[in-house]
Amino acid sequence: MDKYDTIVIGSGLAGLTAANYLAKMGERVLLVEQHFQLGGLAAWFKRKGGHIFDVSLHGFPYGMVKSCRKYWTREIADAIVQLKHLRFVNPQFDIQTTFDKEDFTNILNARFGIERAQVEAFFAHLGKMNFYDNDSRTTRELFEQFFPCRADVHRLLMEPITYANGSTLDDPAITYGIVFSNFMNKGVFTFRGGTDWVIGKMRAELERNGVEIRTRARCEKILVKDGRVEGVVVNGETIAAKAVLSNANLKTTLLDWVGEASLPQDFLEKVKKVRINSSSCQVYIGIRKGETIPFVGDLIFTSRAPTFSSEELKSFHTQSRTFSFYYPETRPECKPDYTIVASLNALYADWETLSDAAYEAEKKRIAEESLQALEVFIPDVRAKIDWVEVATPKTFQHYTHHQQGASFGTKFEGLAVSTDISNVVQGLYHAGSVGIIMSGWLGAINYGVITAQKMLRQTVAK
Ligand SMILES: Cc1cc2nc3c(=O)[nH]c(=O)nc-3n(C[C@H](O)[C@H](O)[C@H](O)COP(=O)(O)OP(=O)(O)OC[C@H]3O[C@@H](n4cnc5c(N)ncnc54)[C@H](O)[C@@H]3O)c2cc1C
Repeated sequence: MDKYDTIVIGSGLAGLTAANYLAKMGERVLLVEQHFQLGGLAAWFKRKGGHIFDVSLHGFPYGMVKSCRKYWTREIADAIVQLKHLRFVNPQFDIQTTFDKEDFTNILNARFGIERAQVEAFFAHLGKMNFYDNDSRTTRELFEQFFPCRADVHRLLMEPITYANGSTLDDPAITYGIVFSNFMNKGVFTFRGGTDWVIGKMRAELERNGVEIRTRARCEKILVKDGRVEGVVVNGETIAAKAVLSNANLKTTLLDWVGEASLPQDFLEKVKKVRINSSSCQVYIGIRKGETIPFVGDLIFTSRAPTFSSEELKSFHTQSRTFSFYYPETRPECKPDYTIVASLNALYADWETLSDAAYEAEKKRIAEESLQALEVFIPDVRAKIDWVEVATPKTFQHYTHHQQGASFGTKFEGLAVSTDISNVVQGLYHAGSVGIIMSGWLGAINYGVITAQKMLRQTVAK
C-alpha cells in the first residue's frame, strides 16, 4: 500500500495500543519499529542457561485488567495476576505489604503511629485530586500537610513511586496522586507468561486486525508541508499517510524528525524546555537450571541509605535498589527458571562520558553491590548463579533510541506539548511516556487509546 490512513512510529505499549485501536476502527495502519522486536521498553531477552529476562515487567496497577480487556483481548486481561508479597527493607523500617489502601492504612496506623482518621483524610484527598485543578503544590508539600516532619512516612509513600517512574518530591503532587492512587486501588499486578507472552499475543491481535507491521524499520524524518503532515521517511523510503502518530521520544519526534523550521517559535520554545526523565541501571541475575531459591517476596524495595531522598536514589553510588523475583510460576509453560532483576534509578550524564575501561569497571561495581544486597535475603545465592549482566542508561538509549536512555519519558511539562502537537502540525500526534502520568505500562496503554480516539474524532470532524 502506498498510502496509509495512519503510520505509527514505534511499537512501545502506547504505539501498539493506538495501532490496534485504529485498525479495529477500520483505519489502514502501518506500524514501523526500528528494533527487531516489538514492545519497546516492554522488553525481554533470552540468555545462555535458558534464562528469559523481563526488563520492565515489575508491577503495574489493577487498572490494566480493564484496559487490556477493553482495548486488547480477554485472554490478555485474564493473564494478569497479583503480586502479593512486597517488602520494604531499609534502616528505618522492615515491612511486608500487599501495597493497597487497606494494608497501608493498617501499617501507617500500627507501625508508624498515625491516626487512622489522618490516613483516611490523606487517601480521601488523593481521591479528589483532579488533573485539571491547576494545583501547583509539590509532593513534598502534600506530604508535609498530612504527615508533617515524618521522613519515615514520606519514605514509605514515595520510595516505590520514585522507583516506578523516577519522580521526585519536587514534582507536582498530582503526578504522585494519580500514580499512587492507581496502585492503592487493589495492589500491584503482573502478567503470567512474561513480557514475551503478552507482546506475542498483542502482535497476533494486531495482525488479526489488519495492522501492517515492519520491524527493523527506522523512521528518519516526518514530512510536513504547509503545516500538515504528509508521511514519513523510513529506511530511506518515503511513505505517505494522512496521519502520523509517533510513539518515540517526544523531543526526537519534534526537534529531529519534524525539524525546528516546521514548528512555530512559541511552541518550539516549549519543546526545548521539556526535561527528559531519569534512566535506569539493571542487573539481570540467572539461577542455574536445576537449582532453586526460597520464596523471599515478589518485589523488595531495599536501601542502605539512612534516610530517603530522590537524589540518593538517582545518584551514581546509590545504595537503593528494587529486586524483582521471577519464580517458575512466571512462565508456567516453560522449564522452571528463576531469575532476579535488580533495578536502580540512574542518570545518563553519569555514564555517558566514561572511558570503555571505566564503563566496564562501573558495571562490575553495580553487579557486585547488587549481589551483596541480594545475599541479605538469600545468603547462599552466589553459588547458584550462572548469569549476571548489567544494563546502564546507555543500554536503554541504544535499544529504544530514547534521549538520555529515559525510562519514563519526560517530566510533567512534556504532557502539554505532546497533547498540543496536532494543533501545531495537522495530522501529527504523539503517544508515549510523558509527564509521569502517561508513563508505565498502564499509562502508556491508556495514552495510546486517548490519542487514537482523538485522531478518529479529528478525522471524522473533517
Ligand atoms: C528499567 C525499567 C523498568 C520499568 N518498570 C516498569 C514497571 O515495573 N511497571 C510499569 O508500569 N512500567 C515500568 N517501566 C516503564 C514502562 O516500561 C514504559 O513506561 C512503557 O513501556 C513505555 O511505553 P511507550 O509506549 O512510551 O514506548 P517505549 O517503550 O518507550 O517505546 C518507544 C518505541 O519507539 C521505537 N522507536 C524509537 N525511535 C524509532 C525510530 N526512529 N523508528 C522506529 N521506531 C522507533 C523504539 O524502538 C521503541 O520500541 C519501566 C521502564 C524501565 C526502563
